[in-house]
Amino acid sequence: MNVIKEGVFLNLRDRMLVGGEWLDAKNGDSIPVFDPATGEIIANVPDAGEVDVDHAVETARRTYQSVAWRGMTPAARERILLRLADLIETNGEELAMLETRNNGKLLAYSRMFEVGASAQWLRYMAGWATKLSGTTLDLSLPLPPHVRTSAFTRRIPIGVVGAIIPWNFPLLMAIWKIAPALACGNTVVLKPAEETPLTALRLGELALEAGLPPGALNVITGRGERTGAALVAHPGVGKIAFTGSTEVGRLIGAICGQNLKPASLELGGKSPVIVLDDCDPAVAAQGAADAIFFNHGQVCTAGSRLYVHHDIYNDVVQRLSAIADNMVIGSGLDAGVHMGPLVSRRHQERVNSLIDSGVADGAERLCGGGALPEKGYFVRPTIFANHDNRPMKLLHEEVFGPVLVAMPFTDISEAIVEANNSVYGLGASVWTNRIDAAMKLSESLEAGTVWINTHNMVDPNLPFGGFKDSGIGREHGAAAVESYTTTKAVCIAYAN
Ligand code: NAP
Ligand code: MG
Repeated sequence: MNVIKEGVFLNLRDRMLVGGEWLDAKNGDSIPVFDPATGEIIANVPDAGEVDVDHAVETARRTYQSVAWRGMTPAARERILLRLADLIETNGEELAMLETRNNGKLLAYSRMFEVGASAQWLRYMAGWATKLSGTTLDLSLPLPPHVRTSAFTRRIPIGVVGAIIPWNFPLLMAIWKIAPALACGNTVVLKPAEETPLTALRLGELALEAGLPPGALNVITGRGERTGAALVAHPGVGKIAFTGSTEVGRLIGAICGQNLKPASLELGGKSPVIVLDDCDPAVAAQGAADAIFFNHGQVCTAGSRLYVHHDIYNDVVQRLSAIADNMVIGSGLDAGVHMGPLVSRRHQERVNSLIDSGVADGAERLCGGGALPEKGYFVRPTIFANHDNRPMKLLHEEVFGPVLVAMPFTDISEAIVEANNSVYGLGASVWTNRIDAAMKLSESLEAGTVWINTHNMVDPNLPFGGFKDSGIGREHGAAAVESYTTTKAVCIAYAN
């Protein structure tokens, strides 16, 4: 289905892509896809069942074993991924518009992160295709006489990767999985989130145009409990790459454990932002606002717990709530808007109920909350002040929305204890120009990434992942290449 929106031609794919063919679900079931700014249905995509998943995995397996893929040189794989990056850029305006219509995020974010960062990640990972290497090893085997042994290792692809992704960065999360998987020579069955399947389907089409053999990237749509679960359990899948909630990650990890299948799990977070007393309050307030409100708070590393030294606490918190109060809320397509809708009605209701819990737990709400007249799934940026550090549900439960709790502290060791008092350990940021404090905090904070004087910064060369309940494994850089390959040792005996 093709539509013209705001002068941009949207190539709206509403069937699944398996082996280069566009398919409906065998059972005929479908899922409606909504525009979160209006509540309007913009597409219906297939709701894949077990039969469809089986077909996709078998297709990916056959492609993995075929000459079209196995016989391809690393340089040829690299060239296809580079071509795909180019195609993402040349079709960037269409992809950005599609993403904003489907996810609700600001068009500027879609352009910069879904399109721009996706192309950047693909190019970085394309370069790894030609750089996989092993080692040569001297061995000490004494038998049989007059025979020496030597060995080498090579990094080989795992086979079929099942990639399951969330809705917060639909295109970029797909790229984070498929780029290293394909660069290393695997084939992929990708399941986007049921809320946001549209850019993943268009990505599958662009991959074919880039020259990827049909069946190397398959995109199946459906619900987690059925389509996702069938992909995880399928014996033909060699690895699961998952980003999503801790609850689902735990479930997937248990099933993969039983089936002895590797799984990388990028899960939830409750990231602290720590502001020391040497920090300019205006800089700290803007930094804290960006840390929580970027992508409407729907970021796994969102800075949702703010700890400010008590000497500048009131100043920072007042400036922060002024920033939040002045944010313009509206459609992500409109210029001048600072915050678009959340992704779905269900998510909006969940975030609103967590805001209610903050009020019930006795924190002071400085701004936000309350219903908005628009039909879309909007939530106002919300700041709570928890002056006396009381226990609150909002300090422990991930909101995944524009909601922050601010608390004062007096010394650094107290801030460390409070910041680490969470089951999560994904990200943390520290705001100071004191090198001693920055080093101490970066060593002590239990987080996969610690940012100093910035927050939410990711790069394809920077490992990313969680401590504790925030997950297992690291994405990006050399770590990603390790996680999408396995080691084969070749042992050679020769007469001496
Ligand atoms: P989710 O409910 O865990 O869903 C993530 C994906 O898993 C979706 O595609 C979902 O399908 C699928 N799924 C659900 N149940 C499944 C099952 N039983 N078996 C297999 N797959 C299943 O998370 P979400 O609500 O989409 O995303 C928000 C969460 O993701 C937050 O907790 C956030 O912190 C986390 N996140 C983490 C990172 C990171 O890198 N660490 C990045 C972004 C988001 P459906 O769409 O049909 O539910
Ligand atoms: Mg979901």
